[in-house]
Amino acid sequence: MTTFGTQFVPEMALATFDGQQWSTPSLVPSDSISLHPGAHVLHYASTCFEGLKAFRHPNGSHHIFRMDQNIARMAQSSRLLSLPTVDEAMLKTMILDLVGRYTDDIPAPPGTMYLRPTHMGTEAAIGKAAAPSTQSMLYILASPVGDYFAGGDATLRVLIDEQGMRCAPHMGMVKSGGNYASALQVLNKARAEHQADQVLFCPHGDVQETAAANFILIDGNELITKALDTSFLHGVTRASILTLADEMGLKVSERNLSVEELIERSANPNAEAALSGTAAVLTPVGTLIHNGKDYTVGTGKPGATTIKLRKALNDIQFGLAEDRFGWLTRV
Ligand SMILES: *Cc1c(COP(=O)(O)O)cnc(C)c1O
Repeated sequence: MTTFGTQFVPEMALATFDGQQWSTPSLVPSDSISLHPGAHVLHYASTCFEGLKAFRHPNGSHHIFRMDQNIARMAQSSRLLSLPTVDEAMLKTMILDLVGRYTDDIPAPPGTMYLRPTHMGTEAAIGKAAAPSTQSMLYILASPVGDYFAGGDATLRVLIDEQGMRCAPHMGMVKSGGNYASALQVLNKARAEHQADQVLFCPHGDVQETAAANFILIDGNELITKALDTSFLHGVTRASILTLADEMGLKVSERNLSVEELIERSANPNAEAALSGTAAVLTPVGTLIHNGKDYTVGTGKPGATTIKLRKALNDIQFGLAEDRFGWLTRV
């Protein structure tokens, strides 16, 4: 399998907003778009995106995971960026039409088809640094992918950063392009200086999330993760894992977690830590790096509860367990 997200089906779904109304969506070639060089997005980063997946089931049917959550989040991101209002029913139809046309390209398990709805301000108006784009473009790319972190027993090395921020605090719950560019300096430095795989952003000692995944600590029978606020991205995977953890009888604690408590609890032999996201699913963290020192989380190996939770989620997604929470939409 090629690198995650570099291969695309030949078409994408596309609609544009002209300032008054949305165009009728259509499937168009996925290898180019046409933008004015003065387009608002290219100067003022008026753009947001989503990431969701379609799955192939053993009986040959195809299903999209929690599509309504991603559609609602894209509408919210667009609102918070002052982009034109997303027509949620239209976006849903666009996703279903695209995936329906390319079901043959959904890889067999453990592969999936990753979907990338993208919304951007297209008005050619470089004077609008302090005003929204009245026009926009919405498209959905589809990318057949393998396992994002196919690593067997591998665990991540994660640097705890208490100085920087992933993004501006009021942008935390917006899935917007600029947030990712703004985290890169810190990430590159962590890779070069600490051989870290990811950075866990903990401004003023408050454990938030990494550049593109939520953070979960498991200590024995308790699962701890930051309660929803505007400072971080509200992951659909995070919400799903919390539901599954609760069903399994774990104590789910949504609350603030300090770096101090995180380091302290990580030393517990039962401790586990993981990153959650659509691409990452639930990826175990084996080592935390803090003030130049390595701290092994639990045994340093993927934790039993992490593996159990990931399997419970994957089993629903791939049709190996009943869809008891109504999370799947059949294509
Ligand atoms: C997308 C994303 C996540 C994970 O969200 P999911 O809905 O689970 O894919 C977490 N944090 C950030 C910053 C993200 O961009």
